Amino acid sequence: MAEPSDSDRPAERQRTRISRNATCLACGCLCDDITLHVAENRIVRAERACPIGERWFLAERPTDRTPCLIHGQRADLDEACDLAAAILAKASCPLIFGLGGAVCEAHRIAVALADLLGGIVIAGNEAGAALATAEQSVGFVTATLGEVRHRADLVVYWGVDPATTHPRHFERYCLTCAGRFIPGGRADRTCVVVDSRRTPTAAEADLFLELKPGSDVAAIAALLALAAGESTVDAEQIALLTGVELSRWRELFDRMAAARYGAMFFDPLSLGGEKTATIEAILSFVVAMNRRTRFVALTLGGPGNMAGAEQVLAWQTGYPTSIRFRDGFPRSEGQPGAISECLLDGQVDAALVVASEPVTDPLATLSEPAREQLAAIPTIVLHTADAPLPFAATVAFVVGSHGIDAGGTVFRCDGVPLPLHQALTSPYPAATRILQTILASMAASLHATTNENGLQ
Ligand code: SF4
Repeated sequence: MAEPSDSDRPAERQRTRISRNATCLACGCLCDDITLHVAENRIVRAERACPIGERWFLAERPTDRTPCLIHGQRADLDEACDLAAAILAKASCPLIFGLGGAVCEAHRIAVALADLLGGIVIAGNEAGAALATAEQSVGFVTATLGEVRHRADLVVYWGVDPATTHPRHFERYCLTCAGRFIPGGRADRTCVVVDSRRTPTAAEADLFLELKPGSDVAAIAALLALAAGESTVDAEQIALLTGVELSRWRELFDRMAAARYGAMFFDPLSLGGEKTATIEAILSFVVAMNRRTRFVALTLGGPGNMAGAEQVLAWQTGYPTSIRFRDGFPRSEGQPGAISECLLDGQVDAALVVASEPVTDPLATLSEPAREQLAAIPTIVLHTADAPLPFAATVAFVVGSHGIDAGGTVFRCDGVPLPLHQALTSPYPAATRILQTILASMAASLHATTNENGLQ
């Protein structure tokens, strides 16, 4: 938690403005109970934020960057938007990505642009795509984090370490917090950790099973066999494959079956083996457990708003991660989430990066050849003031940081939408405004072209 700072002193307090219910985007908890202390248009304190969140809120965000650049030279906003629209309109296969750092209002415009242009829009990564595929094939029994807080008396952390990556998860959603039907908080919950490492979360566990790395599918298969009541489970084989004796899997299964409400947290990114198959196994096991008791599965979620991007893409097109509009209607891409591969297959001839910002940086995850390819084609990049560009974009816009100096809507990993509030005055426009201007400019030029053609 943040220590009292200068803003607690009387003279400072007079100059300090309070902004309540700010939402932190630095990890998947998306804590929306943060009170910001603002002095001279700077955040000087973030009450209730953990150290990771505090670093995010208090990060240096320069206010003196040139808002629009064309080929590295200062440009005015309208000129830059018109050029961006012209680049995209001329391209035969534009790629739009980098949605994790933007709000849902911007995602809607990104989808409209891809539709208008016959381009490709990609949200998420390979792990998100694997989750979506598994969800569609076997179903996903899940719940909100609020439901888990109030009802779960048994929590399983499978290959995840929220004590390190999501520091307020225990206090806000799960382990230590009291719930309506869990009045004793930690004392009323059983905590199980299954992991190949002895993590800080494992130190909190009532039962820890140390798994052989990459043996998630075998371990879940053992649990599925126990859930199905199979009497011929091969104890030797299970111990060999998972590194854990069958008796311990049985102990875990008995605890799960005895729970009133169980919740299993996993992370598609960190799972070993073939991701889709592993996630399908986990989701199938949770479905099977519901024949005995109430059981749900959840992910911990990542920073930024990737969950929102997947929501918007799914409700606008039917597909959550990677869509091609080239045929005049949305089609799911063959290699979902693979932005580098998409850039390198030679078809993409222009790109729009919706939001480059530090916590979800879409450019950092690209392979070196993909980054070189991006620098070689006309590219429009919207980036926050604290995100340096690794190459000179054709058109670059500096935009406000969402949740700090731009508002909008984001989604938590459990599908709960949260509003973002603008805490600071920013010299930079919001990404949504830039995208809206580009879309309007493109629609106007398409309209003019249609009229010209009609007159010929
Ligand atoms: S737990 Fe996550 S969302 Fe909450 S304050 Fe810390 S970094 Fe931010």
